[in-house]
Order: sequence, then structure tokens, then C-alpha cells
Amino acid sequence: MCSGRVDLAHVIRAFQNGMDGVYIGGCRLNECNYITHGNYDALAMVLLARRILEHIGLHPERLRIEFMSSADGILFAEGVNDFVRTVKALGPLGRGEGIGPEELAARLAEIQKLVPWIKLAKREKLAARLTDPAGREGHFTAEEVAALFREVPAYYIDPRKCQACGICAGRCPVDAIDGGKQRVHVVDQERCIKCGTCLAVCPERFQAVTRFVGVPPPPPPAEDERTPVRRKKAAAS
Ligand code: SF4
Repeated sequence: MCSGRVDLAHVIRAFQNGMDGVYIGGCRLNECNYITHGNYDALAMVLLARRILEHIGLHPERLRIEFMSSADGILFAEGVNDFVRTVKALGPLGRGEGIGPEELAARLAEIQKLVPWIKLAKREKLAARLTDPAGREGHFTAEEVAALFREVPAYYIDPRKCQACGICAGRCPVDAIDGGKQRVHVVDQERCIKCGTCLAVCPERFQAVTRFVGVPPPPPPAEDERTPVRRKKAAAS
């Protein structure tokens, strides 16, 4: 019912499913029926998504948002016709930009995996109500998005500190932590969505989780090194 419900993940999924362009129609700005003004959320999301498309080598014109009321049939038809012409001129997704299908799938999959983290990292700017049209284009910059991807964190559980309490594994939203009783926990970096929950919930007395930025985390411990070093024992030895 609301353009504010269109998530960055939906847009990326449409491109993953082979769409050459994505057109979002929202209600007119400042005419939202609710207090949420979700169309502003959609606008900020689209501005960020267009920068992300650019960042991975896709043309940002493949994504467009326009605002109209249910009485604006002509505006809608004109908007869609113009969008279709634009996308046809760009050519098929990826091919129009000189990106092969496998490379394109890999780039989109990487973005899709990072969507929760992108939304977390940019939550304040995504919630901004961009009432001034002049400020919209520069709300997210190419450099900012490049920095965002340079700063993707990785979370690592130190096998010397983990006490296998299970709290992080129980709270991880995507089951990215392999653990169990008497087994040092390990983050599956492929599955991890970088939410930072494990760092936040690891008991302060253990402090077993570290956030790495700009450098890869150490490799996970070997299977035979996954017996927790009990704190008292470690202190005695
Ligand atoms: Fe799970 Fe931690 Fe990754 Fe969040 S940051 S997804 S809690 S492993």
C-alpha cells in the first residue's frame, strides 16, 4: 500500500531476477494519508540505490521513482513510457554496461547480502525527509558509497576468549554462528550480514567478539582447536 514499503532488497532482487529497470510510483510528496510519509523513505532509498548501482557499474537511470495521485493517470502513463524508452536505450541489464552475466550476478549478490548492513549504516540519512528538491541529488555521494563498501566490517570470535556461552549464536538473526556446548563459536563470514549483534551481546566479562574494518579477520580455528579455554584454567596456566 505504501511506496515506503519498497525495500532496497526488493530493488536489488528485481535486478537479480533479470529486470532491466525498476520503476516505483509513490503518492505525491506531502500528501501521505498517514503520519509516516513513507514516500520520503522510498525517495531516500532510491537515491542511495542509484548510487549503489553506479558503484557496481550499472546505470542509475535503470531505477526511477515518481510521485503521483490515483487521479494522475496521464502522468503515470507518460512517466512509464518515458522510463521504458530510457531503459530500452540503455539495453539489457549488464550487457548495456559491458558486464558479463556471471560478474553481474556476483556483484548484485554481494550487494543483496549487505543490504541489512547498508540500511543500518545509513539509517539516519535514509530516514531524512528531503523536502528540498535541490538537496536530493547530493544527499548520497559516490565517494560516500565507495567509503561505505570500503568499510564493510567483519566480526570475529576470538577462540582464546570464547566461553561457548551460546548467547551470540542464539541472537544472530541469520544463524551465521556455528557453536554448541563446549565448542568455541565461529562466524560464518559468507552468511554474516554484519549487524553487529554478536559484538553487542557478548558478555562484557568475555569480550570475545572483535570488529575488523579494512583488514580481513583471522581464519577460523581448526576443528581440533575448538574446545573453550576456560577462564580460570587459562589464568592458572
Ligand atoms: Fe550474526 Fe554477528 Fe554477523 Fe550479526 S554480525 S549476522 S550476529 S555473526
